Amino acid sequence: MRVPPTMAAGTVARMGSAATNVSAKPADGKITSINPATGALLGEVPDQTPAEVRAAVEAARQAQREWGARPVEERARRVARYAEVLMVHVEEVIDLLVRESGKTRLEALGMEVIVVADLVRYFAKHAPRMLAPEPIPLHLLKHRASYLHFVPRGVVGIIAPWNFPLAIPIGEVMMSLIAGNGVVLKPSEVTPLIALLARELYVEADLPPDLFQVVTGRGATGAALIDAGIDYCVFTGSVATGRKVAAACGERLIPYTLELGGKAPAVVCADADLDRAAQAIAWGGFANAGQVCASVERVYAVDAVHDALVERIVRCARELRQGDASSGAEVDVGAMAWDQQVATVERLVDGALAAGAKLEVGGKRGSGPGQFFQPTVLTGCRQDMDVMRKEIFGPVIPIMRVADEDEAVRLANDSHLGLLAYVFTRDRERGKWLAERIEAGTVMVNDVLATYACPETPWGGVKRSGIGRTHSILGLRDLCETRHVNHDRIAMPREVWWYPYRLGTFRALLRGAKLMFGKRFWQC
Ligand code: NAD
Repeated sequence: MRVPPTMAAGTVARMGSAATNVSAKPADGKITSINPATGALLGEVPDQTPAEVRAAVEAARQAQREWGARPVEERARRVARYAEVLMVHVEEVIDLLVRESGKTRLEALGMEVIVVADLVRYFAKHAPRMLAPEPIPLHLLKHRASYLHFVPRGVVGIIAPWNFPLAIPIGEVMMSLIAGNGVVLKPSEVTPLIALLARELYVEADLPPDLFQVVTGRGATGAALIDAGIDYCVFTGSVATGRKVAAACGERLIPYTLELGGKAPAVVCADADLDRAAQAIAWGGFANAGQVCASVERVYAVDAVHDALVERIVRCARELRQGDASSGAEVDVGAMAWDQQVATVERLVDGALAAGAKLEVGGKRGSGPGQFFQPTVLTGCRQDMDVMRKEIFGPVIPIMRVADEDEAVRLANDSHLGLLAYVFTRDRERGKWLAERIEAGTVMVNDVLATYACPETPWGGVKRSGIGRTHSILGLRDLCETRHVNHDRIAMPREVWWYPYRLGTFRALLRGAKLMFGKRFWQC
């Protein structure tokens, strides 16, 4: 059964319980899902109770015992099938993504579906190598040997936001499964239907039904998941909630990955290709209606190119068509998924204008029943304005004029966040040099956003933007326990440092230590 185009209230509760495969006790309260571009009701899902969450974790744990014991090659082969099933239903998935999150069709395909399909195929191919035992050459104890091996953690709890309701959680789900874990996903209360559809496709891909569960609910359901005996937590969301998740995990000594907010700066150097920089910044600021943790959230343009850059970005912004992508219209910028986020964006723009910023284009909520904010460009911004310091998470590009690249880098680093950053210059070597000076998990030179679509590169922030990495070999191995085995290479009756302690042994060890460590380091 697929999610019908518009569901009557009540029908989704049945779908939710079937999809989660957890006994369907009536839940306290319900959560509605709406189309943010029209306000139309899409359906309702249960606000699941702690008891239901615990049952989901227990069911996943039972299934994981058998799954985790299978060779990684077999797990990878079976999970790879998910990409095929996703492609069979690609139109339906895009349709629901557009209706539930307000994004455009191209964004639903390019930034969500393809990202998941490629991630699945990439890890299906490379996980066996990444999770193969890894020898550690021993420095001193040459008669022994060591290696690392990677063991599934058990049940991974995934708590997700609403801005990429397919790509973020389902990418993490697929990596967790290939690593040998069971998974319980708590999607955002703003976009629960996509997660339920994604799980239906999982069942259709002939994967063990109990191994992956979805529990729907608000923050309390996420908190209940951390309290339900999970072995690892992958949280993506705001810094404020990330602190609560870290505290709850810390209390229970559950290891975790936190993917939190961003405030990506774009540094535009005097020698930048301005046409490319302007298009990249416009797309990086407005794609997904600015609701990307890696969005261009502030621009530092060197004085020599500031005016020419602004003129080009404003021209790009004026040409954008904004509207309801679910109507079938060709639009560039869609609706904003969450009504409260529109209010945050409006507050930040109004605050900047009151503090002296200049409005070049946009600046207002869109008309009509949906949740829209016009693509907005602000100039004359200063570092002390909230719009330059707080996460906007909407289609707004604030621009500040700076004297030179040094000032730009200093201001780029003057933030509590450090997820992504961007540098624009024609001098690639200088671009790399500047990139290495910027405090961010990833810095791209002459491009924006795109590395989220590269499952082989690490994704994650420094400073308050998060802890740990998703994607890449680092993210995959974090979903496993790294264990160490040390064994003998040659049979020996005893080690010299065992009992009984003898003066002769001490003298021999001392001579050896002086010989080995007494030399200058480079003579060794
Ligand atoms: P949020 O923090 O409000 O919610 C995220 C999830 O946490 C939701 O599922 C919510 O129900 C749940 N939650 C709320 N309270 C909880 C609690 N006490 N315990 C456990 N779970 C709880 O974030 P949001 O508004 O959904 O998402 C937007 C934020 O996510 C932005 O700050 C954005 O930058 C960030 N984000 C980061 C990345 C990244 O990769 N670093 C990616 C996407 C979004």
